[in-house]
Amino acid sequence: MIELRTPQEIEEMRPAGRFVAEVLTACREAAKPGVNLLELDALAHGMIKERGAESCYIDYHPSFGAMPFGKVICTSVNDAVLHGLPHDYVLAEGDLLSLDFAAAVDGWVADSAVSVVVGSPADAERAARDAKLIRTTEEALAAGIAAATVGHKVGDISAAIAEVARAAGYEINTDFGGHGVGRTMHGDPHVPNDGRAGRGFPLRPGLVIAVEPWFLEATDEIYTDPDGWTLRSADGSRGAHSEHTIAITEDGPIVLTARD
Ligand code: MG
Repeated sequence: MIELRTPQEIEEMRPAGRFVAEVLTACREAAKPGVNLLELDALAHGMIKERGAESCYIDYHPSFGAMPFGKVICTSVNDAVLHGLPHDYVLAEGDLLSLDFAAAVDGWVADSAVSVVVGSPADAERAARDAKLIRTTEEALAAGIAAATVGHKVGDISAAIAEVARAAGYEINTDFGGHGVGRTMHGDPHVPNDGRAGRGFPLRPGLVIAVEPWFLEATDEIYTDPDGWTLRSADGSRGAHSEHTIAITEDGPIVLTARD
């Protein structure tokens, strides 16, 4: 079922968006060489407690998860791209880290993701390829958001994302994509990262969705790590992921999880 939010409800969702942005900013700044992924999870967990927020991940146990997630942030490194379960791993110079975080404040959820290269990579060629991959997810996200206007359809967002990916030479996996956001983390409609312009659910004022392009450098195939959660590229190539929660209004999309 697709729910539309009133302007008042969209205002009520802003604190959740701001909080999710703050946590991602803090974790991105903390993600230095020598830092353990479990420390990033602890940092996010501490911020949740301090804010009186609720984690969307810790008890999350969908059909595709082997067990409840048990952590509060996704940390996907290098060939991991989505749902990276924080584990005892120390970040190294040049790691490509994707952080995905969702939490509820005052009963409203926001969901956002960012990818970064850790430290100062020694391999300039590798670093340039990683920067291009990250930049493409960011440009695809911006294109998807720009297409999220009243009168368009979900397929316009999908097509805008896919066009940016293909122009940069990346394939697209549509197993996981964007989704409605509200009182819970995942609702209708599904917002795939590829699709046909002019098709799908009409974008109406009050629709709140997460838009989340993610691409792999050289494949569109993924597999699940033995940890039961982390999704990795089939060929070992690196992945990146960018996501914002947006509200569609008559005046254009509002990016609820915008970072300063
Ligand atoms: Mg997310």
